[in-house]
Parts: sequence; C-alpha cells; structure tokens
Amino acid sequence: ERVEVPESEHGIDASLLDERAVKVVRTLQEAGFEAYIVGGAVRDLLVGLAPKDFDVATNATPEEVKALFRRAFIIGRRFRIVHVIFGRGRDHEVVEVSTFRAYLDASAAEQVEGNEKTSKSELAGKSHVVDASGRVLRDNVWGPQIEDAARRDFTINAMYYDPTSRIVVDYHGGIRDAKKRLLRIIGEPELRYREDPVRLIRVVRFAAKLGFDIEARTREPMPRMLELLENVPISRLFDEMLKLLQTGHALRSLDELRKQGMHRVFPLLEVVFNADEARERFIRAALEDTDRRVAEGRAVAPSFMLACMLWHDVQSRWAQLRESGEAPVPALQQAIDAVFDARIGDISGRGKLAADMREIWLMQPRFERRTGNAPFALVEQPRFRAGYDFLRLRADVDQIDAELAEWWEDFALGTSEERDALVQAVR
Ligand code: ATP
Ligand code: MG
Repeated sequence: ERVEVPESEHGIDASLLDERAVKVVRTLQEAGFEAYIVGGAVRDLLVGLAPKDFDVATNATPEEVKALFRRAFIIGRRFRIVHVIFGRGRDHEVVEVSTFRAYLDASAAEQVEGNEKTSKSELAGKSHVVDASGRVLRDNVWGPQIEDAARRDFTINAMYYDPTSRIVVDYHGGIRDAKKRLLRIIGEPELRYREDPVRLIRVVRFAAKLGFDIEARTREPMPRMLELLENVPISRLFDEMLKLLQTGHALRSLDELRKQGMHRVFPLLEVVFNADEARERFIRAALEDTDRRVAEGRAVAPSFMLACMLWHDVQSRWAQLRESGEAPVPALQQAIDAVFDARIGDISGRGKLAADMREIWLMQPRFERRTGNAPFALVEQPRFRAGYDFLRLRADVDQIDAELAEWWEDFALGTSEERDALVQAVR
C-alpha cells in the first residue's frame, strides 16, 4: 500500500539534501518523469546520519535519463543504471540513477544453469534471469514504483523522498521500523535470500551500522541459507565486505558475522577469526582505529584495513621463505603474492587497492634502515603516511619497539637539520 508521509511527520531536514541529487530529480520531473531520492540516503536522513551518497530512482529508462544530462553514462550489465557526473577531477561527484524495476518471481524469469562461469552469451539479450537456486543474475525489467519498492531488501531501504513536495513515499512501513530501530526484510525471507544471498551479509552490515535489532522472522532462516553464498562471485562478496569494514562499526560487524557463523564465507575473515592472541590484538587495534576515524568523519582506506587484516599471514609466509634461503625483499614480494592468491582471489580491476596494500607492506622493512640516504628517500614516498600509520599500529601492540615509531614521527616532522641529527644519532 502506498503511504504518503508529509514533512511534519517524517521530519527530514531538506537542507541536508545533496544539491546535485535534487537537481537530477528536478530535471527528470521537469521532463515529465517521476523521480525521487531513494534508499540509503532517505534511511540515513531519517535516523539522523549523514548519507554517504544520494541515489535517485525514476520511471525513465536508462536511455531516457542519459538523454537529459550532458555527462551521463549507462553502466552495469546485471543491473543497468546511469551515472550522472558533476564537477571534475578530485571533487567530482556521481549521482546514481536507477529505473524502477518490476518485481518478478523466479517462475517469470528465464532460468539458466548459473555458476561462476555462466557465459555472457547465455545471458545476452535477456533482461531477467535466475539460476537453479533462484539467484537473480539479471534484473533489468522495468516496472511501476510499487514493484520497485517490493524488490528492495529492507523496509527502511525502500522509501522514496520527493524534494519538491517533501513527501516520503513508504510502501512497507519503513518509517515505523526506523522508529522501532528494527531491520526487517521485505517479503518472504527465505525467498529473498535465495534471490540474492548477499542480502545475508547486508543484514549484518545494516544492523551494525545502525545499531538496529534484526527482526526474528528476518533472522530465523539465516543460518541454513549461508551455503548459498558459495555461488556468489567472489568479487561481489569482496565489495560487500569492504562496505562492511567502512561502516564505522567494523568490530561490531565482525563480531556479528562470527555469531552468525558467516566468517567461513570470506577466506579473508577466516584469517581474522582463527587468529592467535597477538594477531587478534593487532587486528582489533586496527579496526578500533578505523572505527574511530569514521566517527571523526575522516576517510578510511580499505587498502589500509585489508593490509592490517592480512599482515600476519604475510609475515609468517615471509619468515618461511627467508628460512628457506630467499633474500628478504624477494621473499616479501613472494609472500605477498601468495597471500593475495589464497585470501582474496582474483582482484583484477582492483589494481589500485592491491598496489596500495603491497606498498604499505613493502615499506615495513624499509623503516628498519635509518642510515645514509634511505630515510630521506622513504619519507618522500607518496604513500609514506599510510606506511607510517601501519608502523605506529605495530608499535602500539608491541610488535616492534616504540622507539622506532617515535623516531620516524620525529623524522617526518623534522627540519632538514633535525633530520640529519636524527640520522647521526642512530649510528
Ligand atoms: P549505504 O549507505 O551503505 O550505501 P545503501 O542502502 O545506499 O547503504 P546500496 O548498496 O548503496 O545501500 O544500495 C542502494 C539501495 O538499493 C538500497 O537502499 C536498497 O534499496 C537497494 N539494494 C541494494 N542492494 C540490494 C540487494 N542486494 N537487494 C535488494 N535491494 C538492494
Ligand atoms: Mg548507497
């Protein structure tokens, strides 16, 4: 049922809206289409959080949207959407515009065998496709708003805000659930997890991010649905995990994942949860640090977090290789390659993330060399700060001498005379 909630009731402060998203909505409305701010932004404004980004939903097709904006690109295959771009360079902004989708049940879809290797030709020209377990592989059939709401995941994620009338359109009692601080899946839970097993992880992410309770009906089937995650491409799981680590409640999220028995689906988390005491201390310190950063409104680099989580794995492989006679630097390179293979799988397309992690790790032995030109060269590295933060964290958990981290802090901040003096003092 379509419920229109006025400003006096939902209380969203319109001055907190993103101007560019509002402009996109207006442009679409002026062209005669329906358009709303949707999903996470409406939810966050309603519970008093600053939205990370603003998404727009409309009844215009991707082609119709693209035609209205100068810089707009249709992207995605599984889920076709339009990126409308504003600004240039570092402070450019993307507003994601998605077309209302029909909610089709599996029987209306074309079914394919479906696995990691489902061929592109099998999917070509089809707009709604599921695999044998009911997982949706393609979701590109347009439909009315009411169906678009029904195929969203949680009641609090299925609200539409019209910046012109300032009305929230709420089909599934999202406003009520937000007030009750309850995470409730829309529709029949088991079916919804089958369509997209990633929703199992999203439950945990939103519960941790918002501090909401998980409704009993939403929670009940979770343990027996977990094996469905095995069919999900590793790259999607990886993306979802990165989001989870950046909620500002990474520690709480990981504890919840463990409680739900979900750590086994991420090869990477297995490292974290099977850690001995010293490793666990380091990882906890790292996550506390990043949660604190998020709370202070600062950015957290996923590369830094992942580098922390996998550090002990790198270290123990590195030690083994050195024992077998390999020189330190090539040994470290090989250890890093092995860890990427074992824990992350194919991260092609994430070259930057992997390169940043590699750089943080490769810097660590270089911090030990404090003579001659070495420290002057190291401090000029573009990623020095990340490498240093990592070193600091190691010192905090007594992995290395605190004196070393302090020396580098002084060196980084020092004038050139002070730097000379610091290097002299090492000898
Ligand atoms: P965040 O603030 O963390 O980005 P979000 O709610 O915006 O949270 P997104 O992953 O950006 O999450 O998705 C945007 C919206 O699209 C969601 O609010 C939800 O309505 C819908 N959505 C996203 N993923 C799914 C999914 N797997 N199943 C159903 N609906 C989804
Ligand atoms: Mg979002």
